[in-house]
Amino acid sequence: MPSVAIAGAGLVGALNACFFAQKGWDVSVYEFRKDIRTMKHVQGRSINLALSQRGKSALEAVGLREYIVNQGVPLYARLVHNKDGKTFSRQPYGKPGEHIVSINRRHLNEVMITQAEKSPNVKFFFEHKVKSVDYEKKQLVVQCTSQPSRIPTFGTRAASQDHAEIHVEADLILACDGAYSAVRRSLMTIPRFDFSQDYIEHGYVELNIMANNNKFAFEENVFHLWPRGHFTLIALANRDKTFTVTIFAPFSEFEKHMSTTEDVLSFFEENFPDAFRLLGKEHITETFNRVKPQPLVSIKCSPHSFFDNLVLMGDAAHAMVPFYGQGMNCGFEDCLVFSETLEEHDNDIASAVRAYSEKRVNDAHTINDLAMYNYEELKDLVNRNSYKLRKKFDTIMNMIFPKSWIPLYSMVTFTRIPYSEVIERRKRQDKILSTLLTTASAVAFIGVFMGMFSNRAKFGF
Ligand SMILES: Cc1cc2nc3c(=O)[nH]c(=O)nc-3n(C[C@H](O)[C@H](O)[C@H](O)COP(=O)(O)OP(=O)(O)OC[C@H]3O[C@@H](n4cnc5c(N)ncnc54)[C@H](O)[C@@H]3O)c2cc1C
Repeated sequence: MPSVAIAGAGLVGALNACFFAQKGWDVSVYEFRKDIRTMKHVQGRSINLALSQRGKSALEAVGLREYIVNQGVPLYARLVHNKDGKTFSRQPYGKPGEHIVSINRRHLNEVMITQAEKSPNVKFFFEHKVKSVDYEKKQLVVQCTSQPSRIPTFGTRAASQDHAEIHVEADLILACDGAYSAVRRSLMTIPRFDFSQDYIEHGYVELNIMANNNKFAFEENVFHLWPRGHFTLIALANRDKTFTVTIFAPFSEFEKHMSTTEDVLSFFEENFPDAFRLLGKEHITETFNRVKPQPLVSIKCSPHSFFDNLVLMGDAAHAMVPFYGQGMNCGFEDCLVFSETLEEHDNDIASAVRAYSEKRVNDAHTINDLAMYNYEELKDLVNRNSYKLRKKFDTIMNMIFPKSWIPLYSMVTFTRIPYSEVIERRKRQDKILSTLLTTASAVAFIGVFMGMFSNRAKFGF
């Protein structure tokens, strides 16, 4: 059987391990951190994540969909909280029943590692840091951070080993080592490798709302949103009846209004009065004393494949801002698309690797841009009448033409239509809408003109 070496046992690396375990390949995964299943606290990004159709389809392919979805909290609509802290507006995500699922990141990661490890051909090497890729020899350069390393005893062949660095060969190398990928970094000098990285002006801080007498403090099956122009607050329910609450704001706003205890409390009280009451003064103060706002980065690169045997996937290929809830979903879909591409190419690694990159780069760039755009929607547009009107129009058109007129959010979230096609379809919808509006205005104008003409004596001409 062929061998695959995977850099990173995060969400995308662990899911890839499940895919290749299922195919019966020899799988070795090199992860910088300790085994998270043995850790008390896992440092890292968002506590919970919104899982949607693309992610579900990938989990389905490895037999984990039902189990994971049942461990989550379904969310059917956005609940927009007004500034008075008492009134709300509800915006369903799609058709009745369509929903996303709030999932615990750590639990999801642990379940996938355990699932992959059930196969005797899969081995995880924790506390093994991938340093680079030696692209002349097509090897992954790994350093063990806890001695001794167990690498040579299993799976991919270790071409050489000393205490400092281990060179690992494999038929296929998958770089799933996240936004700051060491593999991608070592490819930067390759001619015609395009790369761009943008930090947005916003950062985020995560807080928690505790269960209230073992009950959810808010309605649980909705995505709570407090859009306030250039900053916004969101809350997603967890299975343990808590909510993970995230504030997104420009770093300058954090500095200006949230850098002293007094300031941060009055900022929350003024802008999110209902959330403020449930978060509590003590928790807000403690959190802001303990953590700094975290940055958000958007990364694009092209190609996603190299030397006929290496592929960048997940955040290593396309880290995106979290406002469409698609980073993980897109990364999971990467695993599924690559698996499908391998099958289409009769497991010919070289041609599958090339075909995958050709297919996926455009899609990844599109969802990166859409994620950036969706922030405008979350922080501001959801409150505008033009946005609400467009949403109503899209819903009506979708009822009349269920297959050909699917709203943008639904195409991204509830289908597997390639992201690049999603944007083409949206452009076509915009064109039709603008033709309809122009025609309606022309008809109205002619109507008014005819009315005035038939009453010209009254108007004096
Ligand atoms: C605030 C926030 C909220 C989000 N919400 C959502 C959401 O609701 N829905 C959604 O779909 N996405 C969401 N995302 C995006 C999602 O978190 C990422 O897209 C996803 O984690 C990417 O998975 P990954 O496996 O590619 O990278 P990571 O999860 O970053 O995993 C990379 C792994 O590689 C390991 N690693 C790193 N460097 C090395 C190395 N040199 N050697 C070995 N191992 C290494 C790391 O330890 C880690 O385990 C959110 C992101 C943020 C910041």
